[in-house]
Amino acid sequence: MALLDMIFPPRCAGCDRYGAVWCRSCATGLRRVPVGTLGGIPLVATGRLEGPLQQAIHAYKYRPRPQLAAALAEPLGGALLAAGLLLPALSFVPLHPRRLRERGFNQAERLATELSRRLGVPLLRGLARVRATPAQVGLSQAERRVNLQGAFQWTAAQAPPAGLGLVDDVCTTGATLQAAAQAVAESGGSIGAFLVLAVAQTLPAVAVT
Ligand SMILES: [Zn+2]
Repeated sequence: MALLDMIFPPRCAGCDRYGAVWCRSCATGLRRVPVGTLGGIPLVATGRLEGPLQQAIHAYKYRPRPQLAAALAEPLGGALLAAGLLLPALSFVPLHPRRLRERGFNQAERLATELSRRLGVPLLRGLARVRATPAQVGLSQAERRVNLQGAFQWTAAQAPPAGLGLVDDVCTTGATLQAAAQAVAESGGSIGAFLVLAVAQTLPAVAVT
């Protein structure tokens, strides 16, 4: 155990117990969700946005605890392997530069970096948020779609590949992921799977497998 861990023992981001940043009990308590689809693209998630997973994601993003990325990426990598999907490369949903400055890190990028290392596939930093969008909270699905129109662009010199895995932290209505997928498609690539830590309880698309 590292000295700092003895002086400040880590607390689980899911249940607040001392011992680990994400404890065994929270890890084994995850309820797997079946692979869903979003606009015809497979949607792989670690679980529903509820309980300890919801607590941990909140802590990861807002407290913030970027060091949780490794612990949270592990079950997501497992869910992807269980789904049997082979992805040639990964990318992530970008934050607008202003939001990135405020938060200090992009939660989706950290996850994608961890996943890329675990799975041994390259990480492509091609998507950019070219337009700041008002917060999505409280907007309907249709309003979100309008809100996100033209928000993303593939800006890397190299075109995106076919079958790219796109990582984000949470899928609430799917509008963000679909807008990002649209930008990838407009540059000649395609998304092979969306990979998220959690899907909102209310997202109906995921119930259909
Ligand atoms: Zn726990």
